[in-house]
Amino acid sequence: MFHVKHRVIIIGSGPAGYTAAIYLGRAGFNPLLITGALAPGGQLVNTTEVENFPGFPEGIMGPDLMDRMKEQAKRFGAEFLADDVVSVEVLPAQGGDKPLYRLTTSDGEQFDTAAVIVATGSNVRKLGVPGEEELSGHGVSYCATCDGFFFRNKPIVVVGGGDSAFEEALFLTRFGSSVTLIHRRDTFRASQIMVDRAKANPKLTLVTNTIVTAIESGTDSPASADAAQSETAGSNAVSPVANALGGGLLANHAGLLAGLSKQPPKHVTGVTLRNTVTGEESNLDCAAVFVAIGHTPATDFAADLVERDDDGYILVDGGSTRTSALGVFAAGDCVDRTYRQAISAAGMGCRAALDAQAYLE
Ligand SMILES: Cc1cc2nc3c(=O)[nH]c(=O)nc-3n(C[C@H](O)[C@H](O)[C@H](O)COP(=O)(O)OP(=O)(O)OC[C@H]3O[C@@H](n4cnc5c(N)ncnc54)[C@H](O)[C@@H]3O)c2cc1C
Repeated sequence: MFHVKHRVIIIGSGPAGYTAAIYLGRAGFNPLLITGALAPGGQLVNTTEVENFPGFPEGIMGPDLMDRMKEQAKRFGAEFLADDVVSVEVLPAQGGDKPLYRLTTSDGEQFDTAAVIVATGSNVRKLGVPGEEELSGHGVSYCATCDGFFFRNKPIVVVGGGDSAFEEALFLTRFGSSVTLIHRRDTFRASQIMVDRAKANPKLTLVTNTIVTAIESGTDSPASADAAQSETAGSNAVSPVANALGGGLLANHAGLLAGLSKQPPKHVTGVTLRNTVTGEESNLDCAAVFVAIGHTPATDFAADLVERDDDGYILVDGGSTRTSALGVFAAGDCVDRTYRQAISAAGMGCRAALDAQAYLE
């Protein structure tokens, strides 16, 4: 027995999912958005200041931006469920040529629907070394486009050996006084042209056969902290805006708590390195560590539903958001391995909504 309360269900509550919900809500579909159990709001709830989302000339706190997107979707009739989708099953076509889909959540609830938008984003791969978690947003970053700007005239370390790491490193030479790329092997996965470009850049140093074993930190003196933090702390810096806000989601943020208790936040001062051939340990001073060892798209639950590439990114048909499954659309970082920005994810969420709308009508 099939019961379709929502003709379209969106999985994931980042910029892509909420934007799709706004469009489909305004089009009268009252979509259900399954937000994810652990991180409703997506990756931006783990950051503070977002400076590059259009419409906010003063910048906006990441959790605040996501709350606003949610409110906007709610205003147009979207409904929300804080759970994870664990499987999507294809049901036999009901007297037509379009299938139905049955979504099962981790709590065992089931929802039947005619169209699905997968907007489950991706997770950054972490180094897993001491200092990484506590300094995330205080000099440790996973996004050069987002945070490079904060490290003007500071020494920067990039970790990784693929094309993304090289792209990030080259981009960061615009800001940093120096950029050192640390790679664990003696050869790079990156294309030769990227390696050649890096070698030709006088600001960029390549260090091979080396791993980061720890990220070191220091604390500004109270007097210098205010002046220094906007330059040194990165996108999660405890900005004056953050200090003025407090409460809610932000109160969970270590940087904000430090700000509220008038303790200057810790920030990155260097990395401990180990040579993988000789075992020799060394230290390198830096103000920022950009980890560029890849992302893992959150698409395992859809492995049998849609075609994915070898890394798990969902494949879509040309410039559309159509996947290999009729009536299933995908948007945002779970599709896009290149741009990975809030605005590009939101744009794709819009396209998925319009594709789903055209399909349903
Ligand atoms: C620390 C940090 C700072 C950043 N700063 C910026 C910035 O300043 N500017 C910028 O433009 N971009 C920034 N980005 C990148 C930006 O956050 C992402 O590009 C954007 O969030 C991608 O949006 P999305 O909707 O595709 O997915 P996400 O934001 O990743 O959201 C995916 C959602 O899907 C949910 N989900 C996952 N699996 C399931 C499941 N099985 N069932 C249900 N729900 C599920 C998750 O809980 C999450 O809510 C930053 C990223 C990070 C990590």
